[in-house]
Amino acid sequence: MKRTEIKSLLELRDFGSEVIVKGWVRTKRGSKNVAFIALNDGSTINNVQIVVDVDDNTADVLDCIHTGAAISVSGKLVESSGSGQSVEVHADTIDVLGIANPDEYPLQPKKHSLEFLREKAHLRYRTNTFSAIARIRHKMIFAIHKFFNDRGFYNIHSPIITGSDAEGAGEMFQVTTLPLDNVPKNEDGEVDFGNDFFGKAANLTVSGQLEAELAALALSKVYTFGPTFRAENSNTTRHLAEFWMIEPEFAFGDIIDDMDLAEDMLKYVIEYALENCKDDLSFLSKRQADEEKNKKAEERSMELIEKLKFVINQPFERLTYTEAIDILRNSKPNKKKRFQYVIEGWGADLQSEHERYLVEKHFKKPVILTDYPASIKAFYMKQNDDGKTVRAMDILFPQIGEIIGGSQREEDYDKLHKRIKEMDIPEEEIWWYMETRKFGTVPHAGFGLGFERLILFLTGMGNIRDVIPFPRTPMNLEF
Ligand code: ATP
Ligand code: MN
Repeated sequence: MKRTEIKSLLELRDFGSEVIVKGWVRTKRGSKNVAFIALNDGSTINNVQIVVDVDDNTADVLDCIHTGAAISVSGKLVESSGSGQSVEVHADTIDVLGIANPDEYPLQPKKHSLEFLREKAHLRYRTNTFSAIARIRHKMIFAIHKFFNDRGFYNIHSPIITGSDAEGAGEMFQVTTLPLDNVPKNEDGEVDFGNDFFGKAANLTVSGQLEAELAALALSKVYTFGPTFRAENSNTTRHLAEFWMIEPEFAFGDIIDDMDLAEDMLKYVIEYALENCKDDLSFLSKRQADEEKNKKAEERSMELIEKLKFVINQPFERLTYTEAIDILRNSKPNKKKRFQYVIEGWGADLQSEHERYLVEKHFKKPVILTDYPASIKAFYMKQNDDGKTVRAMDILFPQIGEIIGGSQREEDYDKLHKRIKEMDIPEEEIWWYMETRKFGTVPHAGFGLGFERLILFLTGMGNIRDVIPFPRTPMNLEF
């Protein structure tokens, strides 16, 4: 007989039928005559209750069963008399597939701190919180591909190892096979990359955008969804050294189309989560409420599911960087110097505290800021006629700050060329990118969505290290 997964089993109603169920023990409790085992196999956040009559046959096997053990149970499906669940399994036979010695197994049937679980990242999938997040991550990957596929976008694999460091999105990780204890140098004392694996310096990519642009200028609508690496030493709750980014890029469109696409995509995937991740979201909602019990009422976040609905039910606020600076300059926390970085004037880069003020305090909804100063944005963004600003757009979310960064791209060869000169970007590194502006150039735009920032928002978790299975952050590469 085949195993029934717990997700399907909990929906069965043919009481009395024989079933086989396998999974990992969450808890075992009971009395002299009867034992109750809560079993989970990851197919759902819900456990199935296994009821075992204690007799000569089962006593020994029950003695080997502790939290974390893997077991196989065959028995009868019965209607549950307890509350919460409609079915349970009355065990006929139980096999222990893998024991978990309670003196060694680190997860106890009680609440563990997230910090503790980060040190047990190899086992934290076994908790409700981390299995819920893993399931939601999967559903969101699927929803993102579905969103773009349904709209005729092609998924492009952009390279992970790159020979250009023109992106300027932060520090890069170098990829090399040169011996670190004996690096070959040229006559000027510089590292001789001619002897390196690729015959030139190589890095891990910080973005697939430049390559996606090449594809968009032939296929019209493309997107990448790949790993991204940044060696920035920022130990925040929103930055990882290795994260996943979704980067759509489309031809024949401008910054308005870009904002519309980004807003539609965010709303679509949030709606998808509300429809398809109900059990996991309600668990995470209770978890968040529990975490915030001791906070003052005004410091608590909105209830998770209410927050998700709130975001999809209204248009995002759209305004320019210049308008935002005016709001920030006149804001209370700025006047009272309660911002860590006080906004002095136009040209300042916005920090997460400013972004969150605009979203959480001023507009009380997601915000799209456009037309940033050219000086704080990348070289490829389309220059506005004012000579100061570029057609950038960032989407700011409650609790997160920037979740998306995008722009219309500069399609004019001369303007782009002038800009890379000003910014000292070596032409020989991006001649191929420049050529797209020589041959059949068209208006085009795109953006980057940090996948983990989206998952942070959806799950209500507070730290990005907890929404990716194996976080890579400065001084941390244990698993
Ligand atoms: P930030 O200002 O928050 O550091 P950024 O401006 O460097 O972000 P972009 O280069 O615009 O980010 O990247 C696009 C998106 O990728 C961001 O909007 C964000 O969602 C995500 N992102 C950027 N850096 C990281 C990181 N280190 N870890 C996780 N996600 C990131
Ligand atoms: Mn950005």
